[in-house]
Amino acid sequence: MPRLTIVVAATRNNGIGRNSQLPWRLSKEMAFFKKLTTTSPEGTINAVVMGRATWESIPKKFKPLPQRANIVISRNEQYELMSVDAGAPSTPVYLHSSIESAAARLVGPYSMERPLHRSFVIGGAHIYNATLALPPTSDTFVDRILLTRILSPAFEDCDVFFPDFLDDNGTDGNGRSWKRASFEELKEWAGFDVPEGIQEENGVQYEFQMWVR
Ligand code: NDP
Repeated sequence: MPRLTIVVAATRNNGIGRNSQLPWRLSKEMAFFKKLTTTSPEGTINAVVMGRATWESIPKKFKPLPQRANIVISRNEQYELMSVDAGAPSTPVYLHSSIESAAARLVGPYSMERPLHRSFVIGGAHIYNATLALPPTSDTFVDRILLTRILSPAFEDCDVFFPDFLDDNGTDGNGRSWKRASFEELKEWAGFDVPEGIQEENGVQYEFQMWVR
């Protein structure tokens, strides 16, 4: 069963966005995101799955996200993906009208130009919610969250939130436990030297974490 990995940066209150943008500008955090989502064995490619609003929040000159298969989800089957960008023509971009059909592309044997290595769900809140709710019996299932925890400031004016994936018992509400992996496990899974401990950029403190279930 293909596994999905969520990548998200969230405050202690799970704030992830404001006015359709990221509330912070963290270049080293962005570099981590890029390295994490592009690293794959020679000849393979990773996929990044995102909602239409997240796609639109990426500046034109940066999309499609290079060296990754971009999968955008919108209920509007006529949505003009490529009218927003003429760049990076060799980067595969696919539009899907449901999570289920996007998942079918991830599992299909001939679904990508190159064999797929990892599939990352990169936001926003709607897509995080929908993919976290996929049952373990479905074709795809989220079993890993790469969380950049924004420790301070609080960014209290966030208007979009990551779902609270840990209930009071530390489980996902269906009885399955989420556990925080060790930093060594995070580095090993990422496949590169992830900065350890509390990072600071532009007065923002944050930490790279990995959670698994
Ligand atoms: P999303 O990016 O989740 O996109 C929402 C859109 O996706 C919907 O309007 C719809 O498109 C489509 N969609 C959602 N669910 C489904 C479904 N089940 N089936 C088919 N289509 C679906 O938007 P959000 O507003 O939730 O999040 C955007 C915010 O999140 C921004 O502020 C962004 O900056 C932030 N963000 C933060 C991240 C972080 O790590 N901090 C990461 C990514 C985003 P349509 O209306 O076209 O039908």
